[in-house]
Amino acid sequence: LVELAHVEKHYGRLHVLKDINLQVCQGEVLVVVGPSGSGKSTMCRTINRLESIDSGVIRIDGELLPEEGKDLARLRAEVGMVFQSFNLFANKTILENVTLAPIKVRHMARKDAEDYAMDLLARVGVQSQASKMPSQLSGGQQQRVAIARALAMKPKIMLFDEPTSALDPEMVNEVLDVMIELAQEGMTMICVTHEMGFARKAADRIVFMADGRILEEGKPDEFFDHPQSERAQEFLSKIL
Ligand code: ATP
Ligand code: MG
Repeated sequence: LVELAHVEKHYGRLHVLKDINLQVCQGEVLVVVGPSGSGKSTMCRTINRLESIDSGVIRIDGELLPEEGKDLARLRAEVGMVFQSFNLFANKTILENVTLAPIKVRHMARKDAEDYAMDLLARVGVQSQASKMPSQLSGGQQQRVAIARALAMKPKIMLFDEPTSALDPEMVNEVLDVMIELAQEGMTMICVTHEMGFARKAADRIVFMADGRILEEGKPDEFFDHPQSERAQEFLSKIL
């Protein structure tokens, strides 16, 4: 469903992505781990061209990701993204946050968009908050709204970049539970996270990045119990 081949990227003199090769199949849940600065966020952001790449190719559902234009907007809509900061529109209600893009980009009728949004808000457990403003919700609730907002575009794949790392500890699980449910429903997901419990439970495959390279990939049990590289062993000894 998603394919990166020989992807390279520099920020000036900094070589942030080095020969990244990655394939994610339909329904697969990939968890990306690695030290700070290893390029995890950058890799995620290249997948919907929030960041450009210097060379290599990225395909979504077999289609080459174009540099710009209408096709880019269309392919971007296939990729839902949830960030560390919730990025909800502060001056819009929860319901409006979820219906805005489907109405504007997908040209859904308002009523249909609202019905679907209420279904999604119910799925993530915040339907009773629909008419409130983002600032009236807890961080965990806001992040669940952000997930509903991404799902409202009916993406083929969801990218999560440390969605729980800005949350108070007691709210982490309510967001992870929504992600686990999504995974179980067959959503294709790429998740950057330091939540190793989640990784063990939900991931089909772990990718370990260090210094802009994918150093290891494997099943969660293999990776956590028998990391091959010294970098991965060192990383795991610090976080587990
Ligand atoms: P973290 O775990 O801290 O989120 P990460 O693995 O997500 O780290 P990236 O955010 O992808 O790492 O950053 C990779 C490298 O690229 C870092 O050295 C960072 O300083 C650098 N970098 C990121 N964004 C930019 C930018 N817009 N301009 C210049 N350098 C950048
Ligand atoms: Mg990051």
